Amino acid sequence: MPTPANRQWILNRRPVGAIADDDLLLRESPVPVPGDGEVLIRSRYLSLDPTNRTWMSDIDGYMEPVPLGAPMRGLAMGEIVASSAATARPGELVMTLGTWADLFVAPAASLTRVTDLAGVSPRDYFAIFYLMAPTAYIGLVEIGTARSGETVVVSAAAGAVGSLVGQIGKALGCRVVGIAGGPAKCRWITGELGFDAAIDYRSEDVGAALRHLCPNGVDVYFDNVGGEIMDTVLGQMAVFGRIVECGMIASYNATGTDPGPRNYGRILMKRLRVQGFIVTDYGNRIPDAHKAMQALHAAGKLRWRVHEIEGLEHAVDAVRLLYSGGNRGKLLVKVS
Ligand code: NDP
Repeated sequence: MPTPANRQWILNRRPVGAIADDDLLLRESPVPVPGDGEVLIRSRYLSLDPTNRTWMSDIDGYMEPVPLGAPMRGLAMGEIVASSAATARPGELVMTLGTWADLFVAPAASLTRVTDLAGVSPRDYFAIFYLMAPTAYIGLVEIGTARSGETVVVSAAAGAVGSLVGQIGKALGCRVVGIAGGPAKCRWITGELGFDAAIDYRSEDVGAALRHLCPNGVDVYFDNVGGEIMDTVLGQMAVFGRIVECGMIASYNATGTDPGPRNYGRILMKRLRVQGFIVTDYGNRIPDAHKAMQALHAAGKLRWRVHEIEGLEHAVDAVRLLYSGGNRGKLLVKVS
């Protein structure tokens, strides 16, 4: 059988709860043609992110939902194969918000070049340095204002963002406690990544563990999951603590109304600052975040894991791993 010219995942139906098999369909499609100022990109890697699920729902989110019948949106890294823009040349390796497809069109103005960094492959640059590193850095340093000697707690601590947050916290001189699912992830963050302690939320009482590990309270909570865990950490915050509201993966598949945090009153009693943030709002801070993270890497203080799944056809199965905790590090799909 000849290879189809292009394939793309179409949002067929809005998922209710977890993504079902027919919610997205892989369809053959013509190769798109770049208009003025646009480029055609052959995707090499697709970044699978928890937020992909939020874009599938018709909710009042930070971006418009993907329209039904449209190709699924996602971050991608690939090679320019045709260009109708003066600023972009065929052969360049670029990263942008694209679609889950072999080939897609993007505005040249949206492209970021892959930076040549010693010891970092283009794949890992895309996986870690493009947006995960700025999310962790800006979130912890600028939003969380974490300082030496403070206690930082981070959830989804063995994931792409969380594992970087903990390492930045250690570099700042903080005491870092990670919350993650399962003994293997907990061992990885305390062993290889140097976190001070880990709480396995699947087998431990998170509140009791926090009281034991953070007797003076939590100065900065970097929240990646929301839900029950967020509520529990909220109850353990120190006076003038900060909560960086980065992600709420525990509720992205939810169907009912969120009951809301029971410990909301702690915000007043402990004079907390709670701030939601989306990294793309901080475009002007990203170059500094990149510099800081590259310096950490150059000093040998940054480790990461990339979980690569081969084949665009496995994108939907892959994205589900983020919800089962089956991913080991930053999740990518290798497209070509
Ligand atoms: P991860 O690599 O951390 O993967 C997601 C992890 O979340 C899973 O491996 C799982 O780990 C954990 N998880 C899944 N469901 C639950 C649950 N119900 N309760 C607790 N933990 C759960 O993904 P990312 O690092 O890419 O993303 C982490 C968070 O950061 C997400 O909420 C995402 O939306 C957010 N984010 C926000 C950005 C922003 O600009 N604000 C930018 C990038 C990401 P485990 O096995 O430990 O349960």
